[in-house]
Amino acid sequence: MTARLLNGKQIAAEIREELAARVTRRVADGKTRPKLCAILIGEDPASQVYVRNKERACEKAGIAGTVDRLPADTTQAELLSRIDGLNRDPSVHGILVQLPLPAGGNAGQGFDERAVLDVVDPAKDVDAFSPVNVGLLMQGRPRFLPCTPHGIVQLLDRCDCPVAGKQVVVVGRSDIVGKPMAMMLAQKTNMTNQGDAIGGSRIANATVTIAHSRTENLADVVRRADCVIAAVGIAEMITADMIKPGATVIDVGINRVGDKLVGDVAFDEVREVAGAITPVPGGVGPLTIAMLLHNTLLAAELADG
Ligand code: NAD
Repeated sequence: MTARLLNGKQIAAEIREELAARVTRRVADGKTRPKLCAILIGEDPASQVYVRNKERACEKAGIAGTVDRLPADTTQAELLSRIDGLNRDPSVHGILVQLPLPAGGNAGQGFDERAVLDVVDPAKDVDAFSPVNVGLLMQGRPRFLPCTPHGIVQLLDRCDCPVAGKQVVVVGRSDIVGKPMAMMLAQKTNMTNQGDAIGGSRIANATVTIAHSRTENLADVVRRADCVIAAVGIAEMITADMIKPGATVIDVGINRVGDKLVGDVAFDEVREVAGAITPVPGGVGPLTIAMLLHNTLLAAELADG
């Protein structure tokens, strides 16, 4: 059996069209155009590409996007003061600090990343990294959903891959992907935020296991899964022998091997066992940006009062 390909790129395009239509409607109604401000520090080439992609995606959706490009020798105090300025600016709906912050920044001492993310106004925290937004998510009443896990929920829903009552194994326990992903799929009811259904109760109510670097017998744990979500950052570590036949396999990993991008899943062999699988690239990545746009629009809608 060859697995069905879950085309994240196409689904992201659908979502972006829906968002663009919503933006057009609100602007026609005389409401403010949503605005996202990114802060990029230093010259890291990968970060520059990510920020440029976000800028272009904003433009296509009719969202105003600006990038505050700061030199690598910016200090922590200067960065906090920039964020404070954006927090106070009522024309800004979403604030994004591009990670990772440069290791040698803040006059060579490195940035305190947690302290930086903590000062972003939770009402503008479109990455959903602030403790307030993480807490709301834990309690099942989210304001913003973190972009990558939210994109995966959309993908599972729109590709008709329900997880309710099923065994889901999330490999990786990061704050950005693994932990919130596990939480969202284990919730009882569909997590809606301000009327946006995100997959209904079919994409909730899963029996979730979080596996990580200290998990014993990882292959046995993963083999139990009806749905595997790999968010590790090790190229092709999930192999065909770890997959239950017919399972849904979502590959979050982005790893550069030579001049190629590969996921955490050994795609060619796993697709012969799985029931459905995301490719890398063209799977989860495009959805992450789409959900960032979604959160920026939502922030503007919430600011309308
Ligand atoms: P991270 O480094 O913060 O976390 C990795 C996790 O993997 C850790 O929790 C660790 O416990 C676990 N791990 C490490 N070695 C392991 C092993 N041998 N077995 C089992 N678990 C192990 O990473 P992250 O930020 O969650 O990102 C994971 C991957 O996803 C990276 O490749 C990253 O580039 C990619 N990513 C992609 C998107 C996207 O939009 N597609 C978004 C975020 C991250």
